[in-house]
Amino acid sequence: MNLTFLGAAREVTGSCFLIEAAGQRFLVDCGMFQGGMEAYRKNRARPRFDAREIDFVLLTHAHIDHSGLLPRLTKLGFRGAIYATRATCDLLEVMLPDAAFLQEREAERGRGRAEPLYTVADAQATLRQLRAIDYDLACDVRPGIRCRFRDAGHILGSSIIELWLTEGDSTRKIVFSGDIGQKGRPIVNDPTPIEAADVLIVESTYGNRLHRSLEDTEEELAAILNDTLGHRRGNVVIPAFAVGRTQEILHVLTDLLRRGRIRRRFPVYVDSPMATRATEVTLKHEKLVDAETRTLLAWQRQAGAAGLDVHFTESTEESRRLNDIRYGAVIISASGMCDAGRIRHHLRHNLPRAGSAIVISGFQAAGTLGRRLVDGARGVRIFREEVPVHARIHTVGGLSAHADRQGLTDWLSGFSDAPEHVYVVHGEVTAALDFAAHVSARFGWTTSVPAAGQIVSLDAPRAGRISAVT
Ligand code: ZN
Repeated sequence: MNLTFLGAAREVTGSCFLIEAAGQRFLVDCGMFQGGMEAYRKNRARPRFDAREIDFVLLTHAHIDHSGLLPRLTKLGFRGAIYATRATCDLLEVMLPDAAFLQEREAERGRGRAEPLYTVADAQATLRQLRAIDYDLACDVRPGIRCRFRDAGHILGSSIIELWLTEGDSTRKIVFSGDIGQKGRPIVNDPTPIEAADVLIVESTYGNRLHRSLEDTEEELAAILNDTLGHRRGNVVIPAFAVGRTQEILHVLTDLLRRGRIRRRFPVYVDSPMATRATEVTLKHEKLVDAETRTLLAWQRQAGAAGLDVHFTESTEESRRLNDIRYGAVIISASGMCDAGRIRHHLRHNLPRAGSAIVISGFQAAGTLGRRLVDGARGVRIFREEVPVHARIHTVGGLSAHADRQGLTDWLSGFSDAPEHVYVVHGEVTAALDFAAHVSARFGWTTSVPAAGQIVSLDAPRAGRISAVT
């Protein structure tokens, strides 16, 4: 049995792993690369496999860097099932057609020089290939291939995938961490501990960093809101992933209001139709959210005018009207890395305003507009126009959907035996290498940081191999 690292190898985006075992070829995740021309090129490169020969896909969660190339896989002839949790399937219904729409529009803007990566029709076809699987139930997807989805606590529906691959009389257990959430975060549960794996593939987005605590982050956000909406008379613009982050921000704002931490009333505009749909999906899966969130939802329902004053804008007309608001509003919009979507209009209008504040709360990949803002650019280009940056840029770290080094270490502590091999993926090269070194030092496990295209064997080490090495 073999594993090929096709994406998220020494980088954060483009998660995709090919497994050949038990006479089947299948993928774990099929994500889009994000950030700059290099990503554009990789998304369009011919895959290293024949899509028609992929038997099925296991999907850890709905984020585009894990799911965004599924419609392309379908377009290239993949006809198998895509297994994911029910909530992930619901989120994909919102996200994939939207991603396809963006691709179509981008191709139009290029005046037909490039055909879209895939179309809305391709995305619709992909949705018909989805098969929902419940958390925690072992499922034999093919003879010799058993899988189990466990809650990863990253976004709604996110999972760690446990895989048991059987060839002859030998069974190997492979675990894909997917994206691991930070304990105690809003909305989602804590990541499920896993006890054993022969081979572990673990993410490392923040493998060399420690987040600020959620409490500190909430206080920081309260200070920014009181300051900006108060005497600075500006707006607070929050670029946020439509799925996950937007709902967390709403959660934190509601909680701050409930605890009396914000001095004045203010309207919140969620300006992203996809975020609106994703919020609906979250409410539909209320059983999956954590207990604190259920309590807060109950409070918001009872609070009436004292609750959070949220408006979900739909039409571009409504969205455009937000540009006329000079001060006093909170605008949450996508994309989270500022390189597409309505957020760019809000940045264009608010970046030049000294009173406004931009709150960056998520990971910003190299090459994105969000990263340039975080890096302190004095001016940026938006819609082929030079926009000066006078607004204050705040980076708040504690809301990350990813566990930090401590969170990842805590999750790894759940393993009762050492995995034979740990592959560290889904991190920029420094983060991945640092985290691999940390895991080796802390647990004494064998780790490596695979490169894109690398193929490794998942077979049991042959008897005597270790003594041959020593
Ligand atoms: Zn993710």
